[in-house]
Formats: sequence, structure tokens, C-alpha cells
Amino acid sequence: MPNNIKKSGFSNGVKAIGLISGGLDSILAVKIVAEQGIKVIGVTFITPFNDDDFGKRAVLLAEQLDINCKLIHISEEFLDMLKSPRYGYGKNLNPCIDCRILEFKKAHQLMRELGASFIITGEVLGQRPMSQNKNSLELIEKKSGAEGLIVRPLCGKLLSPTTAERRGWIDRNKLFDINGRSRKKQYALAKQFNISGYSSPAGGCLLTDPGFSLITKNLLRSDMLDIGSIGLIKTGRYFTISDSFKLVVGRDEKENLKLMGLARSEDVIFQPQTKGPVAIGMGKRENENLQMACRIVAYYCKSPHPYIGGGGKDTRVSIKISYDGKEKIITCTRISESELSKYRV
Ligand code: SF4
Repeated sequence: MPNNIKKSGFSNGVKAIGLISGGLDSILAVKIVAEQGIKVIGVTFITPFNDDDFGKRAVLLAEQLDINCKLIHISEEFLDMLKSPRYGYGKNLNPCIDCRILEFKKAHQLMRELGASFIITGEVLGQRPMSQNKNSLELIEKKSGAEGLIVRPLCGKLLSPTTAERRGWIDRNKLFDINGRSRKKQYALAKQFNISGYSSPAGGCLLTDPGFSLITKNLLRSDMLDIGSIGLIKTGRYFTISDSFKLVVGRDEKENLKLMGLARSEDVIFQPQTKGPVAIGMGKRENENLQMACRIVAYYCKSPHPYIGGGGKDTRVSIKISYDGKEKIITCTRISESELSKYRV
């Protein structure tokens, strides 16, 4: 007998898919339903805009309830959707309504494949302006094809009864009526259920971050947004040299190493011949683009060109650039602070 059923004391043989994001609400929602004897199969959807530990955090959190959590990558579909979301973007570049439709479609499909009867989510009415108002919840449910099958235990008492309640699989009286942005009730429940180690409410998706959204938008406009370029912008400082050439510069040794690992065959690698960052260029390798990229990399170099010398007064730096199996050295002057700001997003 699985441990989660042992813990809750009984099993009615019904299974549910529990969407787990690593945040508190989703794990509470799962717990509330598991307590009613439902076997929960945890599922975490991973998009390119989650940080590297997102899946790991969700798995660890699910383990506290003795629930296995499947990590499902939806990167390609997510990117296609992000390029033109039918219901638009939120405050930043977050296409929350389309994203939820996509995730519930996937969850619904999985539900049928795994013989589960409904889906659990930690959504709270009124918590997020775009995707968690009554109209949006209904729209998302309808468009995902999972009408009546989505149980939202934290606010279930405020919504129409779902199939799970109507069929008596779960007791509606044991659901909650949480509404709005305050998280007091959730923290009290976490204490009651002895749940810890959850992420902060904004910790999951980089598309809710204004700065990251601007960078993503910049790449999107230049038709350069793909899984590889997202990996790079998640790692280092971003500069837009032109519409056709973008640069990501490492901030420290760890980022330098990571960028080297992420560089694709079509990218340009910039490596200073003195102490300085690694940078990766994406796009058209026109001479002007490469020269400007070198000047930006040079800005972050610690010391002057080792051969030219100059006792710190000489601002020239030599940068090795590599692409297509070829290498060349460009010696350039550092860009000034004021000029540099023009290339930031
Ligand atoms: S914040 Fe990101 S992951 Fe969450 S619903 Fe919106 S787009 Fe999807």
C-alpha cells in the first residue's frame, strides 16, 4: 500500500493528478485532497522560464507527503504559445491564461492515461489578477477540455461543485474558502500539516520578472527566442548590440563556465586574453557587431592588454573570438560607461 494512503488512513481507490509547482499553495491543495484518501500522482510542468532547481524543489516538497512527482517538460509548446498567446500577456511577458490552458490540457491527457479521475491545483480565487479571477478560471477550464474536473481545494467552497464532489470522491465540507492575496491562512495550514521548504510565491516563473521580461521581449522581437537563447539569458548579463546580434556576458567564474557549456555551434565565443569574462554572441556575425561585442567584453576585463602594457592607462584589450571552428584575435578599446548603457535592455 502506498505511504500516502497509509498516512491518511483509508483509500477509496480514486486517483488524482496533483499539479505541484514547488510553492506552498499547490502542496497544500494536494495535501487537503490526499487527506481524504485519494491517491495523488504529483506532476510538475517545466518551462524554459523556470530556474534550474525548480523541478528539484517540487520533488523534495512532494516527498514530504510521500508523493512521487513526475517532471514534465513542455518547453517547445510553451515557446510556441509565448510567441502569440491568444489571451495576451499579464503585467510583464507572462501569458498566464494560455499557460494554464496548456498545462491543464496536458494534465487532462495525463489523467486519462494514468486512470486518474480529476486534477488538483493550488489556485486561489482573486490571488492573481489575470488568471485567478472567476471568469478566467472558468475560461481556462473550458478551453483545456477539463470542465468540472479541476479541484481547487484552497478556494473550492467559493466555486461550483466539481465532479469529484458531486460523485462523493471528496467531501466539499473539507475544502476551504480562501480568497485574495493574503497568505495568512495558507501559512497556518502549512504549520498544521508540518510542511516546510516551499518556494516564495513569486519564485517560479521568470516571465513575471520585469527585467527578464524586457530581455525576453527583445529577443522575441528579433526572432531569436528559442530554448538555447533562453538558457544563455538566464545565465549572464544581456546586451543588444543590434537587431541581429545579442551578447551575454558572464559575471563570474561560475557563469563563465556555464556559458561555455551552453554555447551552441552557431554562437560566437568571446574570451579575453587577459583576466575577464567569457561572453557568447548570438546572431549575424557582421564585423561591426563583433567589434562592438569585443568592446563590451573589454569593459569588464580587469587589466590592460598584457602585451601592450601601459601601466593601466592603455585601455586596449585583446579578445579571442571563435566560431565555425575558426579563431581570431580582435584588439579593441573598452566601451565607456555611458556608451555601454545604450546596449542594455
Ligand atoms: S506565472 Fe508563468 S508559469 Fe505561472 S501561469 Fe503565468 S506564465 Fe504560467
